Amino acid sequence: MERKEQLYEGKAKKVYATDDPQLIIVEYTDGAAAFHGRKKGTIAGKGSINNRVSNDLMRLLEKQGIPTHLVEQLSDRETVIRKAQMIPLKVIVRNVVAGSLSTRIGMPEGTRLKSPVLEYNYKDDALGDPMINRFHALALDLCAPEELATIERYAFRANDILRTRLQQLDIDLIDFKLEFGRLADGTIVLADEISPDTCRFWDTETGERLDMDRFRRDMGGAEDAYQEVLHRLLEE
Ligand code: 5GP
Repeated sequence: MERKEQLYEGKAKKVYATDDPQLIIVEYTDGAAAFHGRKKGTIAGKGSINNRVSNDLMRLLEKQGIPTHLVEQLSDRETVIRKAQMIPLKVIVRNVVAGSLSTRIGMPEGTRLKSPVLEYNYKDDALGDPMINRFHALALDLCAPEELATIERYAFRANDILRTRLQQLDIDLIDFKLEFGRLADGTIVLADEISPDTCRFWDTETGERLDMDRFRRDMGGAEDAYQEVLHRLLEE
């Protein structure tokens, strides 16, 4: 599969056309951004790690019945994916209080939730991705009610599958963000990525953070943390 013209360049990814109008190639870069692009930097090796971590986790979900955009990994940093019309929602699932939920409800990070929480953010850079609920999503016609029901089912199922898998690697899945798209035939697929950029991963024993928070919060050691996740996942 050959790379054609560049279609898009984001904070951590570039997207290219291919000969096949239904397929595109995503290239993961080392670019890191936080706080709606106000903080920018790089994490050496991140692109290659996220490409491999995300593909591994997407394959696992696919095997367990969640359709994804993944087609095949092309190289260290490149993957062929199905082109999907993106639904402008960030779907966040939380098992433990952290990040913006901690600030919002005034509970300390690390407080375990009695049951998983699903949140939506409306994807709009200019507005700073405001939090909305399912009624807003439907009223704004961001997707059809059946599509939203499918998204919610997939999000909770993904949480169960990922938690179980990561537990085996002594990683606690605190929370994560998913994005979904619609294929030409209307199928809802899990899109974007699942990686230390989009999940909070805490070491089960030490509580050490193995994710993007190391960059967001200037904790240092982001490169090593990303390597550690890849290592536990693929080189057991
Ligand atoms: P929070 O709302 O606490 O900032 O984020 C909750 C979870 O969703 C975290 O795992 C975080 O990594 C992920 N997340 C939320 N928004 C974004 C985003 O815009 N980009 C990325 N990479 N992850 C996000």
